[in-house]
Amino acid sequence: MVGSLQSVRAIYFDLDDTLCGYWNASKLGLRRTFEKYGPEGFDAEELVRHWAAAFRDFAPDLKRTDWYPGYLLTGEPTRTEQMRRMLARIGIDEPALASRLSMTYMEERDRSLELFPDAVEVLDQLRPIFPLGLITNGPADIQRQEIETLGIGTYFRHILIEGEMGEGKPAKSVFDRATSIMGCERHEILMVGNSYRHDIRAALEYGWHAIWVLRDSDVPPSASGDTLKPEALPQGAPEPDATIGSLSALLGLLGL
Ligand SMILES: [Mg+2]
Repeated sequence: MVGSLQSVRAIYFDLDDTLCGYWNASKLGLRRTFEKYGPEGFDAEELVRHWAAAFRDFAPDLKRTDWYPGYLLTGEPTRTEQMRRMLARIGIDEPALASRLSMTYMEERDRSLELFPDAVEVLDQLRPIFPLGLITNGPADIQRQEIETLGIGTYFRHILIEGEMGEGKPAKSVFDRATSIMGCERHEILMVGNSYRHDIRAALEYGWHAIWVLRDSDVPPSASGDTLKPEALPQGAPEPDATIGSLSALLGLLGL
């Protein structure tokens, strides 16, 4: 066991791109959607590029706009707006098509969503030893759907969803709430996540342990330039207890 992890008594996981390949599902879902219903004269890859450009413009500020309260409840309005903006970029103004693309994308993405191959084995081994929890950002309906699709709800004693709490990681209040319901001290809790900014830095700053899962597949469809590579540790930022390339590496680190 890694010495610094000896005090760990409970573990919280992030969901997307920690336990399941969300970005892979998103990329597949977009491609299939545009192959099915994309406007004529545009190939699917081209439409994905327009979607990505619209995403880079729309998504980063979402939480500071009037879209946020609705987004917390359901992913539908912002997902449809995202498609509307994608179509607008290619000169098409068809609200019904935006809705159809949005719905199809949601279904195709869900159909493509898979746990990483070692996730079940790792959760099976950890569950008898540590109380487990999930802290995941995103709309309530989408996150609940993902948990249902993946069949992992029963592994977790506590499931904290941004859409249900009205706030998400990296807010300190989220980590405070997670600490208090787990009934442990902060230094007894381990966060396992793929996002340095949302999962790892916050956990370390609030006194938890953190293990960073960094995979080559962790690249969003909207990536361009520098963001085509998985996230790097910002200069001078606190180091996680460990960085791993797959979930199964977690077992050895915890002495299992
Ligand atoms: Mg994640």
